[in-house]
Amino acid sequence: MQRLKIYNTLSRKIEEIYPLTDNRITLYSCGPTVYDYTHLGHIRTYINNDILKRTLEYLGYKVIHTMNITDVGHLTDDADFGEDKLEKGAEKHNKTVWEVAEYFTNYFFYTIKQVNIKQPSIICKATEHINQMIDLIKKLEEKGYTYQTSQAVYFDIRKFKDYGKLSGQSLEEKLSAVREEVVLDPEKKHPADFALWFKRTGRFANHTMHWPSPWGDGFPGWHIECSAMSMHYLGETIDIHTGGEDHIPVHHENEIAQSEAATGKPFVRFWVHYAFLLVNGEKMSKSKQNFYTIDDILKQGFHPLALRLHFLSGHYRQQFNFTFKALKATENSYKTLLRKVEELKFINTYLKPDNPSKKDYNLIKKFEQNIIEVLSNDLNTPKALAKFWNLIDLETLNPRLKLELILRLDQILGLRLESIKPVNLTEDLKKLIIERESFKGKKQFDKADNIREMLNDKGFEVKDTKLGTILLSKTTQPN
Ligand SMILES: [Zn+2]
Repeated sequence: MQRLKIYNTLSRKIEEIYPLTDNRITLYSCGPTVYDYTHLGHIRTYINNDILKRTLEYLGYKVIHTMNITDVGHLTDDADFGEDKLEKGAEKHNKTVWEVAEYFTNYFFYTIKQVNIKQPSIICKATEHINQMIDLIKKLEEKGYTYQTSQAVYFDIRKFKDYGKLSGQSLEEKLSAVREEVVLDPEKKHPADFALWFKRTGRFANHTMHWPSPWGDGFPGWHIECSAMSMHYLGETIDIHTGGEDHIPVHHENEIAQSEAATGKPFVRFWVHYAFLLVNGEKMSKSKQNFYTIDDILKQGFHPLALRLHFLSGHYRQQFNFTFKALKATENSYKTLLRKVEELKFINTYLKPDNPSKKDYNLIKKFEQNIIEVLSNDLNTPKALAKFWNLIDLETLNPRLKLELILRLDQILGLRLESIKPVNLTEDLKKLIIERESFKGKKQFDKADNIREMLNDKGFEVKDTKLGTILLSKTTQPN
């Protein structure tokens, strides 16, 4: 069995992934905070995550994938100083926090469906797991990792000796990084201590979402939800945890601290992080007007799967610079690909290609091995795509085996090539093709061209090949 090698942020090395039990891989992905529209940066992150999951499945693993929906507790900065994102979103969009959460959760799922991202097996909302979070905080309290102020319950990071192991940042560095920031809670012992539970008091006195707890009415901090839900659904030690690279220094460091302090076991075996997206060379932001959603892409006439293919052309650990010009070029390649698949389907349905030779079988096997090998080497999608194009362009390959392999590989690429249908060759169309071939045989090219034009007008493109005439629809689109 081919194994997947991937860069583990924790060990800073490319390592081979292997499961702890059977062929089962547990995967947890930090999900969206549902206070605003899902944008291109999220789309790229979750496409990369989808490729990771699909590659593992292709290699024969059963992937148990859990993703959270953050609908409470995520503040506008990572260090507990800001406002609650959901409350802010509610104000901005003139909705209640619950309506905001529902609206943007739906928008998130609508978006990922457009780009054919498989839904996680388990989707869990923070607001539906308050009890699990309270239990985990209680456990940390019993073990002496927490302290209370009048405003919140904090995790005391100095009590966790491994704090900083993911980012490689020492406590001293961390301290100097946060020293300049405003400390809203004067009773906080260390500026980088993070809130496990906010009390409904002071700046949060009017917080809409709140629950009773042993520390008073309030709401959970952001970080605790991922530890609590990950452990609840996947166990105390999971195989892979993924997220954007911006989560490394705070969110994921905090997840490790609170999880490992509570269980005394390693929380995650492989940490995988996806690099940032730039738009026209700049960080995406609304003020720069380079903030795009899937609807902006659709409005400009692009197929959403062309965007998927476009993002696969970059490696997940490298920043990706998005431009509409480059997307246009990828869309042209995507159309070429759809045409090729349609052509192969036509050949296999209506024409009579030769049976594959031993050489064909060997070549196909080699292609498949090569492509899976580069994907298995730290998910090198750009290299895998280059090899995939070589396969597409190789005209001498047996059409049946070639189509089968393309569709097999598309289980990873996710471009919905299976749904491409060949032209429905009706009796009328067949008759026209035979007539045209007979005119050509008699060298009556004008008459043959007339039929070609007639077919063109009906929306078909005529292609002459050694195997016979192929009709292609001019409007091929995947479903
Ligand atoms: Zn998380």
